[in-house]
Amino acid sequence: MELKLTGKKALVTGGSRGIGRGIVLGLARAGADVVTCYRTESEAVTSLARELKEIGGNHQLVKADVSDPAEVDALVEDCRTSLGSLDVVVHNAGVISHVPFAELPVEEWRRVVENNLGGPYLVTQRALPLLSAGASIIFIGSRVATVGIPLRSHYTATKAGLVGLTRSLAKELGPRGLRVNVVAPGPIETEEPAPAEVRERYQKMIPLGRLGTPEDVAGVVAFLASDLSRFVNGETINVDGGI
Ligand code: NDP
Repeated sequence: MELKLTGKKALVTGGSRGIGRGIVLGLARAGADVVTCYRTESEAVTSLARELKEIGGNHQLVKADVSDPAEVDALVEDCRTSLGSLDVVVHNAGVISHVPFAELPVEEWRRVVENNLGGPYLVTQRALPLLSAGASIIFIGSRVATVGIPLRSHYTATKAGLVGLTRSLAKELGPRGLRVNVVAPGPIETEEPAPAEVRERYQKMIPLGRLGTPEDVAGVVAFLASDLSRFVNGETINVDGGI
């Protein structure tokens, strides 16, 4: 058994930085052709384009906000013209927010819901006509959605919402040969190093003794994207070092 994604065509939202970038590079290195999107032009986008070129394959970086229906339509059209169809959709784009619930403004509630739940709704629905039989839809949730955490009630509500969305879509889309699953990361250290006290706290809490990396998440995403997971549907896989 070998994890190969050669010939697979993937859309990964929010790939310019952090976990999404790790997922894009992981899928591309395993042989997939990848379209990814981001909101902000930056050096991170340029350097990702450079790395993808070095890996080789048919990859595209598209500026598109997943919370905007017109931009999602344009993104899906880009996928259609450059890839033709899709075998994998990874919903990684998301925003985090720390606000005490009692002070949470309605605008901030809506911003987080529109990005973290509205985006996956729009992208999944609009991409459906492009999905091939056997395609894999993967939502990036969060470990805190099931355990809870102060100051992030709105964020955790959206991530828990993805679990419900997944369970229902697994049943609704399964008969069409589509699989839908969640990957729920614990604390992942991305480009910005965690402050020393945060790292020490997590090192004590996490049995494996370290924070996760984008590559740790990308490995599980690659498994769910591959045919090795062909009978896994409606599941949430935690990637949290056993926290
Ligand atoms: P980052 O903030 O580092 O990166 C987010 C990426 O998504 C960026 O490329 C950003 O691009 C893009 N993005 C955000 N909103 C949108 C949007 N509306 N449309 C298009 N692109 C968008 O996040 P992380 O890598 O830390 O997190 C990635 C995912 O993993 C999120 O869903 C997060 O909730 C989840 N997660 C993260 C954990 C962690 O410890 N880091 C733990 C558990 C879950 P741009 O800057 O251009 O907007």
